[in-house]
Amino acid sequence: MRRARLLIDTRAMRHNLGVARQASGTRSIFAAVKADGYGHGLLTAARAFSKAQTDGLAVATPGEGVALREAGLAERVLVLQGALTAEELDLAAHRSLELIFHDPAQLDMLERQAASLPAGCIRAWIKVDTGMHRAGLMPEDVQSARERLTHCPAVGGTVGLMTHFARADEPDSAPTEQQIETFRSIASDWTGETSLCNSAALLGASAAGGDWVRPGIMLYGGNPFIFGEAAQHRLQAAMTLKTVLVAVRTVTSGASVGYGGRFVAPETMPVGLASVGYGDGYPRHAPDGTPILVNGQRSQVIGRVSMDLVTVDLRGIKAQVGDEVECWGNGLPIDQVAQAAGTISYELMCQVSGQLRAEATILS
Ligand SMILES: *Cc1c(COP(=O)(O)O)cnc(C)c1O
Repeated sequence: MRRARLLIDTRAMRHNLGVARQASGTRSIFAAVKADGYGHGLLTAARAFSKAQTDGLAVATPGEGVALREAGLAERVLVLQGALTAEELDLAAHRSLELIFHDPAQLDMLERQAASLPAGCIRAWIKVDTGMHRAGLMPEDVQSARERLTHCPAVGGTVGLMTHFARADEPDSAPTEQQIETFRSIASDWTGETSLCNSAALLGASAAGGDWVRPGIMLYGGNPFIFGEAAQHRLQAAMTLKTVLVAVRTVTSGASVGYGGRFVAPETMPVGLASVGYGDGYPRHAPDGTPILVNGQRSQVIGRVSMDLVTVDLRGIKAQVGDEVECWGNGLPIDQVAQAAGTISYELMCQVSGQLRAEATILS
């Protein structure tokens, strides 16, 4: 229905899982597929990682885990936000979803519901706050939480322990090292499984250890760091957003282009009109100068992004109506567009419209 098209390259996703596998060594992998597989489609992503033999999948909510089970995926599934309601606990119990307990209210709820759940059917992880101060039990509360879980008849197996890093994407490794140290002091006599690393820590914090890693963004070809480039880590773009030029015109020197007249032509110049806009998920905040490819040639956005249209600087570029425009993907790293637009690749991926996702071309 739209002229803009989304291409999802599952071969790149499988390749990136291989990169993660290599970095993880002997550790097992929960591939993160939350937020509709970072915008690539929950099942598209999950099936790609399953085919490439991931050990497990990580989702945000039990509902996402149920969708994986209903699609026949049999890997271990870690629910990062755990269960909030009795219904979610029930789903987790009957669909073999592993629950993270990050708040005392979740333990209270489990104990209230335990009698109505099958014995030993819930695999539990404790999330400990080692410095991010977003979610997680404080270190001093881990021991009692572990005892409560161990004594709960609905919980089976040994309880896992995990944490999450706040600043693993930054060049300064000190805050991450501090979190690793805090984790170690709690986990020194832990008998269950442990997990620490997101993508950035998997590639950057080789001392973090743990039994499981939880990469997300790197599997889709996004750079997990706020410096450098995805290609340095041999990551390949899984998502390409493309469209076509629908008009080429000349704008005279001094004339302004688009809503608000943000761009004023410094000279008489050719301007292209690309059929993509914030209605497709292209970031409205992209300023003049945001990179975009026309016919494989690097160009830039000029003027404000509209709902269905973007105006493009065609100075020095060979282009005509019908030519291909790439917003990001194989030829233009999504991180460059994200940086120009003041955001991160994660947000651009998640923001692609549902319509484009539903009509995506899947390369396998
Ligand atoms: C989303 C998430 C991940 C994956 O993070 P990336 O930066 O995408 O690799 C890992 N762990 C937790 C708890 C998460 O919420």
